[in-house]
Amino acid sequence: MITKQPVLNVGMVGHIDHGKTTLLYQLSGKWTDTHSEELKRGITIKLGYADVVIRKCKECNSYTREKTCKCGGQSEEIEYISFVDVPGHEMLMATMLSGAAIIDAALLVIAANEPCPKPQTKEHLIALQAKGIKNIIIIQNKVDLVDKARAMKSYLEIKEFVKGTVAENAPIIPISARQGVNLDLIYEEITKIPLQKRDEKSEPIFFVARSFDINKPGTEIKDLSGGILGGILKEGTLEVGDEIEIKPGMSVKKHDKTTYTPLTTKIISLYSGSSNLDKAEPSGSLALQTELDPLLTKSDNLVGCVVGLKGKLPDVSYTLKLKTTLFKEILGAEKETAVTPIKVNEPILLSINTSISVGMVTKVKNNEVELALKIPLVAIKGSKVGMARNLVGHWRLIGWGEAL
Ligand code: GDP
Ligand code: ZN
Repeated sequence: MITKQPVLNVGMVGHIDHGKTTLLYQLSGKWTDTHSEELKRGITIKLGYADVVIRKCKECNSYTREKTCKCGGQSEEIEYISFVDVPGHEMLMATMLSGAAIIDAALLVIAANEPCPKPQTKEHLIALQAKGIKNIIIIQNKVDLVDKARAMKSYLEIKEFVKGTVAENAPIIPISARQGVNLDLIYEEITKIPLQKRDEKSEPIFFVARSFDINKPGTEIKDLSGGILGGILKEGTLEVGDEIEIKPGMSVKKHDKTTYTPLTTKIISLYSGSSNLDKAEPSGSLALQTELDPLLTKSDNLVGCVVGLKGKLPDVSYTLKLKTTLFKEILGAEKETAVTPIKVNEPILLSINTSISVGMVTKVKNNEVELALKIPLVAIKGSKVGMARNLVGHWRLIGWGEAL
């Protein structure tokens, strides 16, 4: 018996056009699931998650997502996982980082027919490193396009590129996403990733990564389905019927000033992949259907919020204190540029869990900085915070901090 909820969130990262979308489709068969009921399907698609049960053939021992293996043998269920489409090709580093808050492991897709590293390949690896994501599987894609000599050269380039990084000892799997070659090796490697111990006993903390309105235009009020929050339950458990609080909550703009009001509501239903749950434990992707007016949740309005039981969340704060670790150099920049020390009055883009804010530096002392925030945060002590600085119009990652 496998778990009812996915136990691992696997993100897909890498340079544009190297094959992430193609690979996600191949590994998950996403969009082909036409059997589940419409609401559930809608939720899964909007979340950008694709849940997959990895199976192993009882005859030839190869890994697959099919019940009947290519060899004709029957397969058995091994592990329930979730692929997360970390959004955007032209994405800001910050978006990438907030996506990285909800993943436990990553497939770093690198095309064999191009020299490595390309700028985004470099940036993404650094982002994974900054967020402390150590479980990385390197996918050397498009091997169908190269000869043996180039495949070897590409392998050596990758090896050189990851030297001294978190991915130094990561497995490198040559594949063709287009032709579906060696996908079994990816599944197998994923099953070897150690599962994080999750804390079910603490007060629940859920990070909102997506929020939306599932109703079709023109639905009658009495038939309206409440607002949906998608994201990840980091610790604790949530149950149908729980009274919850959402912070910082709803933003209201008035005369150039934005204020935030926490929201309280009740959980009506819980979805994980295609299953309905009464109670959710910390694990992969999760969606909460609430009693909120769907207007409040539509178009990712509540992304970056933190959900907890009513009255149990830490306070919202307009200031943040960090212990910082800066990189030596800015990565992903055209030419190598040293990271200069943080200065008072400089704006820093912050990514903490699934939220993003800009902070003005108010104080610097050794490796501690204090910031005044534009958008308030629920900063949970010890959270890892990505920090980016604006350089000629681009936010560039300069290091990370730990919330004090
Ligand atoms: P993404 O930007 O990383 O999501 O890349 P896509 O999945 O959109 O792929 C970019 C292009 O490369 C598309 O035209 C794909 O069909 C093609 N492609 C992806 N994987 C392979 C592969 O393994 N072999 C070949 N020949 N083409 C591929
Ligand atoms: Zn088989």
